[in-house]
Amino acid sequence: MKYLGRLAPTPTGYLHLGHASTFSIAHRRAREAGGGLLLRIEDLDPLRCRSEFAAAAMEDLKWLGLDWDGEPVFQSQRRNHFLEVWQRLKSGGHIYPCLRSRREISTLAPHEEEPIFPIEWRTPQGTAEGYSKPRGVNWRFRVPEGAVLRFHDQNLGLVEKVGQRDFGDFLVWNRDDVPAYELAVVADDMAMGITEVVRGADLLTSTARQILLYEALGARTPAFFHCALVCDKEGRRLAKRSGGLSIRELREAGKTPEEILRMAEVGRIISKL
Ligand code: GLU
Repeated sequence: MKYLGRLAPTPTGYLHLGHASTFSIAHRRAREAGGGLLLRIEDLDPLRCRSEFAAAAMEDLKWLGLDWDGEPVFQSQRRNHFLEVWQRLKSGGHIYPCLRSRREISTLAPHEEEPIFPIEWRTPQGTAEGYSKPRGVNWRFRVPEGAVLRFHDQNLGLVEKVGQRDFGDFLVWNRDDVPAYELAVVADDMAMGITEVVRGADLLTSTARQILLYEALGARTPAFFHCALVCDKEGRRLAKRSGGLSIRELREAGKTPEEILRMAEVGRIISKL
């Protein structure tokens, strides 16, 4: 099968060194394999995404020399496709409407970013049948009890994640009627025929969740390559808010694309120390 990769920025801010790092690896792997590389703008969240960030991301990628094939795909235009996938998951009994509020869930483990959703809080099997649309309620994937997800990462080797220990029932559709990241990314990677997903190692647990979605949808999983995250000199992980390290600022400060890609590489090495 011919290699097909993708670059998938979320336009909630300007690209930074971490993106330059992941996207340059994705680009290199696709080109070295003699394969294709698609661009998908993950602009589903209307409150956080802005079209000027999408335009800036495309401009920055081009300036860095990271080209892609064909026209960009915008997730905001693919709602019907996501709805179909929601429907399939619902028909298969894999998802359920969740009636617990975010506040209730966060009180379970106030210091954790994402507490594990307790199995006892699931709504009973069959509740989903009363819904013809996802709107108005959060939808969660029913993680099979004790599910062990083992996969061979092309960069990290064997990775293992365990359901209800590393993650619990996760969101596939938000009550504000926006498909959740896990559903959208799997729906699109499947539809676009992606053979290898290159992404940051911060998404390893998401990958385990996504493998469950592929299985539920009866689809083949792509290969995965998780990249080391880029850290600053103090060893702190970069985030969109990290000042001074956006591609734009570095470019304005006179850095060349080669220098920026080298800085990204050094940042990955620091993260491994
Ligand atoms: N859009 C995601 C991000 O910017 C990446 C999605 C993925 O690689 O699956 O973090």
